[in-house]
Amino acid sequence: MSEHTKTDGLALASPLPKAERSAPRNERMAGDKIECNACPVLCQISRGKAGACDRYANADGLLVRVDPVLLLRRAQAGSDTTVVPFVPEGAAWQGGLLPTDDVFVTGVGSSTTYPDYKPAPFIVSSQADGVDMVTVVTEGIFSYCSLKVKIDTDRWLGPERALVRHRGEVVGHVTTAEYGSQMLSLGGVHHLTGGSKKEGRITVEMMEMMGNKQAAEVQIEGGATVVIQANRAPIVGGVEEQRMRVGCGSATIGIFAKQFWGLADEVVVVDDHITGVLTEHQAGRCLDMRRSVLKIRGRKSTPGRYFQVANPGTGWGGTDIDDPLSIIETWDTSQAWPGLRLLMVSTTGEHKAWFVLDEDLALQPAAMPVEVAAVVARIGENCEPALCSVLFLGGAGGSLRAGVTDNPVLLTRAIKNALVNVTCGGAPAYVWPGGGITVMVDVARMPERSFGTVPTPAIVAPIEFSMRMADYQRLGGHMGHVRSLEHTLRHGAWHHDGAPTSRRWALADAATAWPLGTPPMLG
Ligand code: SF4
Repeated sequence: MSEHTKTDGLALASPLPKAERSAPRNERMAGDKIECNACPVLCQISRGKAGACDRYANADGLLVRVDPVLLLRRAQAGSDTTVVPFVPEGAAWQGGLLPTDDVFVTGVGSSTTYPDYKPAPFIVSSQADGVDMVTVVTEGIFSYCSLKVKIDTDRWLGPERALVRHRGEVVGHVTTAEYGSQMLSLGGVHHLTGGSKKEGRITVEMMEMMGNKQAAEVQIEGGATVVIQANRAPIVGGVEEQRMRVGCGSATIGIFAKQFWGLADEVVVVDDHITGVLTEHQAGRCLDMRRSVLKIRGRKSTPGRYFQVANPGTGWGGTDIDDPLSIIETWDTSQAWPGLRLLMVSTTGEHKAWFVLDEDLALQPAAMPVEVAAVVARIGENCEPALCSVLFLGGAGGSLRAGVTDNPVLLTRAIKNALVNVTCGGAPAYVWPGGGITVMVDVARMPERSFGTVPTPAIVAPIEFSMRMADYQRLGGHMGHVRSLEHTLRHGAWHHDGAPTSRRWALADAATAWPLGTPPMLG
C-alpha cells in the first residue's frame, strides 16, 4: 500500500486526500469490519486491514482507496517528453492555482463505479484552449481483456496455436508471426473464467505483472521459454535477444544488393521464412550479375526466394542450422569457376561466413574481406533493438459505460464519431472499429503500477473519457457530478450515488463549493 506512485519520473502521486467513505454494515459482520462493494467480491475488511486486492482498506472504520489518484502534467513546449511530474520530486503541492488545461486526472487510483450504475468517481471539468471540457475518470474492472505481446526475434518461439503456460497453467497461445516479430495472445476471458480457479488466478497475476512492466516467464509448448518484459529485450531460452532483423532474406538481398555488387559473386541471406539468393533474385538480375551455380534446399517461391530451407530453430536466421552450407543442395561444378566468392549471412548479420571456390571447385572457408564485413556490419546497424511490446486490449463493459452516462450507447456512438478521446492512465488508446468500446493501449506508455486485480478474477485498469462539456451533456452525462479540477484537487470528487443510504461521506466539506451541478445529499 504505497502512499506515492511514480511513473518513470513523468508523474507523481497527487496530493489529494485519500477518498474516504464510511461503509455499509452487513448485519452478519463483526462490529469492527466494513464491507467493500467496489467489486463483486464484497470483502469484509477488519480495522487496519486491506481487502483481497490490496486496493481498499479499513482505516479506523472508514473504507479508503489505498493508492493516491495519479495526476499528469503536460510538459513545456520543447521538452523531450509530453508529461512531467505534477509536483517535483520531494516537493509538496502548496495548494496554489494550477493551469487547469495542463493537468490531467488519470484513472490510476481513482476507484471504480461497481456495481455499475454509480457515476464515475471523478468527472472533472477543465478548460483546453478556452473550450470547456470534461474528463470522466475511473478504474475499470475488466473481465474481458487480454495482452497482445509482440516479441522482436527471429528465434523460434513455438508453433502457431501452441499453448503458452505461466507457472504451469495455460495462459494463452502463440498467434501469427509478423514481420521480424512473433506474437502471443495472453489472458482473455476463457483463461480468466473458463478454466480452473487456479488457471484464472495465475492468468490474472501474469497479466498484472506484464501490464505493470515487470518481467514474467512463459513456456511455449513445443517451443521456447521466454522472459517477457514490456519495452525490454526478450530473453529466449536464456539468451537475451539483441537485434530485430532488418527484413526477410529476400528484403535483405534487395536492400543491400548494390552494396554487395563487385564484392561478392553470390550472397545467400539465410532466413527461416524467405531465404534470398542474390544472383537469382530480381535485384541481382537487374544489376546484371552472373548467375551462380548453387541450388538451395527448400521450396522455391519465385526466382532467388526460397521457403523452408531448414527447420525453425534458434540458429541462423531463425532456422535450426549451425552450418550454413547445409542448406546448399547442389553445386554445378560445370558452371562454377575457381575463385568464386560466396557470402552467407543471416537476416540480422549476427551469423556470417565467407567462402571461396578453390582450384578443385570446392568451397573453402576464408577470411572475410574488410569491405564485405563492412556491408555485413551495415545489416546489423540497420537492425533495431529487439524489444517486447505489451498491449493491453480490453472491452469497456457495463460499469465503465454507465459510469459516464445513463444511456451508454450514446457514449459508444460518440467515441465512434471521434467526439470522445479515450486514454488509459493518460496514454492514448486505440479504439477498435465495430461494436462496443474495445480499446488497446501500449502498457509502456502508461504510468507505473497502472494495473491491479480483483479475485473474481479480473484486471483493474485506468480509463478516461475526455470530451467537450457540451457533448457530455448531449450524451446524457452525469452532469450533477461534474467537479472543477480545482475542487477535485482540493477535495477529491467522490460522491455517494449508488451507495446504500446509510453511507456517509467522511469529507467534512463535501457539501461546499460545487461549481457545477448540485451538491450531493448526505446520508
Ligand atoms: S477485492 Fe473487491 S471487494 Fe475486496 S477490497 Fe478489492 S475491490 Fe473491494
